[in-house]
Parts: sequence; C-alpha cells; structure tokens
Amino acid sequence: MATCPRCKGHLTDSHRCPRRPIFVAAEVVAAGVAGGMAGFLLVFAFDPNGRQISDMESLMSVVIGACLAIWVNRALRS
Ligand SMILES: [Zn+2]
Repeated sequence: MATCPRCKGHLTDSHRCPRRPIFVAAEVVAAGVAGGMAGFLLVFAFDPNGRQISDMESLMSVVIGACLAIWVNRALRS
C-alpha cells in the first residue's frame, strides 16, 4: 500500500493527514481568544442602559464566550 508523503500513513482513498498537536492547540487558543473578545463585545452591545459593567460581568462574558467558541470549534472538528 502506498504511503502518504507527508505523514507516512497508509494512503487510502479517505486519507487525511493527522493534524499536528501544536496546530490543534493554536487553533483552540485562537478560538478561545476570539470567543472571549466576542463575548466581551456582546455584553457591551446588549447592555440596555449603558451602565457600568463590573469586572465580574466582563470576566464572565469573556470566559463563557471563550468556552462556547472552543466547544463549537471541537464540535465542528468531529
Ligand atoms: Zn498524510
């Protein structure tokens, strides 16, 4: 059986090279950062009265946004 020139795995019809862990980790981090920023911006966008947002609220929105982004990222992978 032929082997893949890139990953040396068996070159079947459905072959896809395994992703390097460093790229997977970088993608998860990137998704987390993007999600955190999106969550932070959403809190500002939907804040009805333009009141002062506490550190706790902004931290929560960042964490939740990051978790959601990573979860979606992983869900799309599998
Ligand atoms: Zn390959």
